[in-house]
Amino acid sequence: MNKKENILIIGAGLCGSLLALRLAQRGYKVEVYESRPDLRVTDISAGRSINLALSDRGLKALRLAGVEGKAKEICIPMKGRLMHDTQGNTFESNYSGREGEYINSISRGDLNGILLTEAEQHENVNIHFNARCLEVDIEHKKATFESYQTKEQFVVEADVIFGTDGAGSALRKSYETSNPEFTVSQEFLTHGYKELEIPADENGNHLISKNHLHIWPRGKYMLIALPNMDGSFTVTLFLSFSEGEYNFENLTSEEKISAFFKEQFSDALELIPDILHEFESNPTGKLGTVKCLPWAYKGNTLLMGDAAHAIVPFYGQGMNASFEDVVVLDEVLEKHEGDWETTFSEFQKNRKQDADAIADLAIDNYYEMRDHVANPIFKEKRVIEMT
Ligand code: FAD
Repeated sequence: MNKKENILIIGAGLCGSLLALRLAQRGYKVEVYESRPDLRVTDISAGRSINLALSDRGLKALRLAGVEGKAKEICIPMKGRLMHDTQGNTFESNYSGREGEYINSISRGDLNGILLTEAEQHENVNIHFNARCLEVDIEHKKATFESYQTKEQFVVEADVIFGTDGAGSALRKSYETSNPEFTVSQEFLTHGYKELEIPADENGNHLISKNHLHIWPRGKYMLIALPNMDGSFTVTLFLSFSEGEYNFENLTSEEKISAFFKEQFSDALELIPDILHEFESNPTGKLGTVKCLPWAYKGNTLLMGDAAHAIVPFYGQGMNASFEDVVVLDEVLEKHEGDWETTFSEFQKNRKQDADAIADLAIDNYYEMRDHVANPIFKEKRVIEMT
């Protein structure tokens, strides 16, 4: 293996920063380009969803890169779900009967920050922010970027290029124009999501149980809340864009928003003092699934994470699956280091089926939840499976 090989990683999100760290540990020279500012020093939302459920699959990947301990310091264990009905009653459903089994709530921005900092500890890693990839010339292993500040374009050459630039991947778009055999499908749901906040109490404590993933299942609508370290909860409302009695299109006035929450989520409403302002000013996000093939081209480029397999969040596994990509890549590199073509094709062979399976499960859950609203027992079962 030629350890002097230059690796270019496009996108320093969760997958790209973990990949950079792991490849640096393996001795590669890694250049990472990220379209957004450095989230450790700039007050920007880290992207989609403020906090995430981190499961064993994700932790295994963090362990591989030696950062599990640091990540665990910012994890809040959630031993189960706490379901809230329309009357404000709650009932618990633990993830496991076994002691010590739980999933973790973790801040996307803080986790991403840990990975960036760890990657930068390696002198063979450089991370460049505010540089958006426009396209990749796969044949010549060159990527064109645009500087956010100056709008100037520049070209970066590498021996191998990884696209970890999320669901709207620039590398994937370049595959569409350069590989006639490339197929891609991108399907959006009719539901979107909006984030709200349950603040901490005056002492900085959580207002509701911090060791649960809270769920208000209502079939066509759903609210979930995951705890944050500062005592707050990030609440996510899943709601149709335009269908049904209540939807993002028709919840346009304060009266309508209040009426909807009073009817459907009255106990949550009491906990979100700034709801009207947040509902109106926070963005409404889209939810989609991306499937494509092949993930690699010419033995010198590879898609990973959401760029290869974005999924809807109804199993809370997108980040975990993206982290698992790094574990599987590391395993195949162990066998085939120096032969990128074989490494990439074996990576795809080992990963594609699993990525499709979790994508389909997540979609199935969405439809089950949406369409089986009439049967509360069924609805409840689906929600339990979902989270
Ligand atoms: P991203 O996190 O999207 O990172 C891509 C990075 O590339 C970003 O930093 C972006 O700025 C950068 N970038 C994009 N385009 C360019 C470009 N052209 N040039 C340079 N840089 C670029 N997963 C879980 O496991 N658990 C959960 O609980 C969970 N909850 C979720 C809730 C919601 C509402 C949503 C929408 C998703 C959730 N996910 C969850 C999924 C998770 O967010 C993604 O799977 C994960 O972020 C994928 O990581 P990534 O690094 O592949 O992509």
